[in-house]
Amino acid sequence: MSMNNQGRPTSAGNAGNTSELATISGDRGLHHEERLIFEIGRAGMTGVDLPESQVTDARLGGMRRRGEIGLPGLSEPEVIRHYVRLSRMNYAIDAGLYPLGSCTMKHNPRLNEKMARLPGFGDLHPLAPRSTTQGALALISELMRWLTTLTGMPAVAMSPKAGAHGELCGLLAIRAAIEARGEKRPRILVPESAHGTNPATAALAGFTVDQVPAKPNGHVDAEALKVKLGPDVAGIMLTNPNTCGLFEPDIIAMAEAVHKAGGYFYCDGANFNAIAGRVRPGDLGIDAMHINLHKTFSTPHGGGGPGAGPVVLSERLAPFAPLPLLVADKDGFRLVEDRAELPAGAKPFGRMSAFHGQMGMFVRALAYMLSHGRDGVRQASEDAVLSANYILASLKDIMSAPFGDGPCMHEALFDDTFLEGTGVTTLDFAKAMIDEGYHPMTMYFPLVVHGAMLIEPTESESKESLDRFITVLRGLAEDAKAGRKARFDGAPHFAPRRRLDETAAARKPVLRWRRETMPEAAE
Ligand SMILES: *Cc1c(COP(=O)(O)O)cnc(C)c1O
Repeated sequence: MSMNNQGRPTSAGNAGNTSELATISGDRGLHHEERLIFEIGRAGMTGVDLPESQVTDARLGGMRRRGEIGLPGLSEPEVIRHYVRLSRMNYAIDAGLYPLGSCTMKHNPRLNEKMARLPGFGDLHPLAPRSTTQGALALISELMRWLTTLTGMPAVAMSPKAGAHGELCGLLAIRAAIEARGEKRPRILVPESAHGTNPATAALAGFTVDQVPAKPNGHVDAEALKVKLGPDVAGIMLTNPNTCGLFEPDIIAMAEAVHKAGGYFYCDGANFNAIAGRVRPGDLGIDAMHINLHKTFSTPHGGGGPGAGPVVLSERLAPFAPLPLLVADKDGFRLVEDRAELPAGAKPFGRMSAFHGQMGMFVRALAYMLSHGRDGVRQASEDAVLSANYILASLKDIMSAPFGDGPCMHEALFDDTFLEGTGVTTLDFAKAMIDEGYHPMTMYFPLVVHGAMLIEPTESESKESLDRFITVLRGLAEDAKAGRKARFDGAPHFAPRRRLDETAAARKPVLRWRRETMPEAAE
């Protein structure tokens, strides 16, 4: 098959289809082999009529462009079709179950979108005068009240723009608090089951990372943690419920030990969906925790954004919260941006981003909270945990669940023991799910179990939806064990693309289209 210089098939070769029967067009059913917009555009074609330019004097001097700009020219229907066809290649939470563990891919109610598009929020400019933004600031203040109430923490920094950004905010606050005490504590303890962002954040914030092992039952080894504590330890970063989908039973004892050793307790709150409304992290001795609004409070995510990762802070860390600070006085709300205007006791470590944070995410999260109410948030957590336990209980006889004895929290963890000797790997199993119409679960994470498969169904799925999913996974597990390998070898078979070289895609991404005739050196 001929390929272009992007490694994309150029001929109508029915790329990636197993069928011998090639179509004339190269399209297949109602799936179109969509070409890049640069490949379908023609010079001279345009979808708009623009008036003749009135500017006659070149004001760019020698910088003026001489050649063609090379933008694709298309009519309006061609543009619309191109983007609609591309959008139909997406898998989305609105298209089907999204079982990715550690991600909380839940339904985003349309009400949230409607609220975020209200002109007063949607058209807001971050530099708009204070007198015109009182409603937006009141919304942020109300969201802060919900977050501090649900977590039982006194303060919250709103500006971090993702979970990982929130981790950085929390660790910079910890660093500032340690420096304010005139101490040097370079070491952070991170369990080996941690999400990759945890050690990365600790390193970025200037700490060295020391791993804490897990016990055979998937819990962090509290005794091993205590042994590692000392005057050079700034604190611990711990996820609860942890990435094995288990609540850490020794969490209070660990918090006390860390505090006694002079350290701080950072909690990765990405799994808050399992406990929101039931457990207040402040009661567990946590000093800082980010909340992924885009996971727990339904705002959409994926593809790198947008997100919002507010960080709740304990009494001891609150003074170090980053600018801007939202304050209310007799004239209403305002954002303190300047060190000259700091309220008493505030010692911000700096700032995390321009302006105040992700306003659109704030509106969606608060809309979700207000429409659920406090009891509804709690109910959502309970249903998420129930769904995960239903999956665990329905599959653990046929797929191997390393910690399957007790109940799990919001996600069910399986390993590849059940595939032993079958020649089918976790990757093959996940790819075969695509042929069945499902986005695969999280694979090979957490690293503490071999060939991990982490399933988080969330509260969004009905029992019928879960049953259908369970039937498919049982069927795949039966086929693998019975040696019926055909559906696994080289899967997916029915997707527009067959199995991709994901390593090459990550290591050598082709991010820019080049005209076939354009020599490489021209870049
Ligand atoms: C998602 C996640 C993060 C990172 O959050 P982002 O918003 O993607 O930056 C950190 N820890 C855990 C456990 C997560 O699941």
